[in-house]
Amino acid sequence: MNRQNRWEALEQLLGPVAVRQHVPLAEYTTLRVGGPAEVLVTVTSLETLIMLAHSVWEMGIPLWVLGGGSNVLIADEGVRGVVVINRCRRFNVFTGPEGAPRVRAESGVPLAGLARTLIRQGLDGLTWAVNIPGTVGGAVVGNAGAHGGCVADVLEELTVLDGTGQVHRISGTEMAYSYRSSRFKTETSQRLVVLEAVFRLRPASADVLQREAESFVAHRRRTQPAEPSVGSIFRNPKGDFAGRLIDAVGLKGARCGDAMISTVHANFIVNLGQARAADVEALMRRAREAVRTRFGVTLEPEILLVGEWPPAVRAYWGTQPALSAAEGEGQ
Ligand SMILES: Cc1cc2nc3c(=O)[nH]c(=O)nc-3n(C[C@H](O)[C@H](O)[C@H](O)COP(=O)(O)OP(=O)(O)OC[C@H]3O[C@@H](n4cnc5c(N)ncnc54)[C@H](O)[C@@H]3O)c2cc1C
Repeated sequence: MNRQNRWEALEQLLGPVAVRQHVPLAEYTTLRVGGPAEVLVTVTSLETLIMLAHSVWEMGIPLWVLGGGSNVLIADEGVRGVVVINRCRRFNVFTGPEGAPRVRAESGVPLAGLARTLIRQGLDGLTWAVNIPGTVGGAVVGNAGAHGGCVADVLEELTVLDGTGQVHRISGTEMAYSYRSSRFKTETSQRLVVLEAVFRLRPASADVLQREAESFVAHRRRTQPAEPSVGSIFRNPKGDFAGRLIDAVGLKGARCGDAMISTVHANFIVNLGQARAADVEALMRRAREAVRTRFGVTLEPEILLVGEWPPAVRAYWGTQPALSAAEGEGQ
């Protein structure tokens, strides 16, 4: 079956409205950067997501799930294969085995919105996440965290779809969590889709949680740029801060095209309007080389470079799971 026939087969399965070709991905990312998806499918139910993944994997075509697009830099050349926009947004609060509250959330639920809903209900556990853009799925993959909390601390259980089409439940302790990373972020041969997550909660005063959340929001407003960005570009090296190091080499305000190292926080690159992925990558490289030369510290990206990057870029940054999405094609 050639590629066009495959897309027609997908349309028969999901309907022509759901399957769109050559759709620019910039609008699906917080940085507003990124070339087209060969095929873009938006899903609103886990049943459709599972059925789609089965069919696409059976065709030997890569499938890549995009959450809120707040931790990825998508190549200007775009992404080959099927990109899934995850709008599976159901969640429910329930009582766990020993009487403590839990929330079960589908992977497309916006994390910050979930945190705010729980705060209103007087439930603590995700209060640290009131500012974090993106979805539950992206947060679980990257071990998102802020203000002293992170996914690893509260994740009880996950439901995932593996590359053989099986649905599994795995416990949070099986995720090999470390600072802003997990086995899903680092295993290059993965074909895994996060379907649902269960988080542990505790009852608390809604007023107290609300005040805490407001202080987190105010802190962000003071310390982070308002322009479109992808959050922290680099992980903080042990005992230091990537932003401090980039600031110390004098790169605050440095520009490449419309991409600029933020003058507010040097570990953020902002899009002043028409930035391309290549501009952002060039600035990342400039910052990394300057810090390495001056301090002997090699900054590692927190964000994932995704899609059809030139071989030289892949070689420089090393293989990341999302970078290698197209490599399994045809198998
Ligand atoms: C202004 C700003 C502030 C930020 N502050 C913080 C912060 O304080 N702390 C923090 O940790 N992060 C922060 N971030 C980064 C980002 O918000 C988090 O990493 C977030 O958890 C990413 O979620 P996402 O849904 O946007 O993931 P995406 O960027 O869409 O995807 C990230 C990776 O997860 C994978 N993925 C997503 N969903 C699934 C799924 N269902 N199944 C399998 N794989 C999946 C994608 O394929 C991709 O490889 C910030 C970002 C911005 C723009």
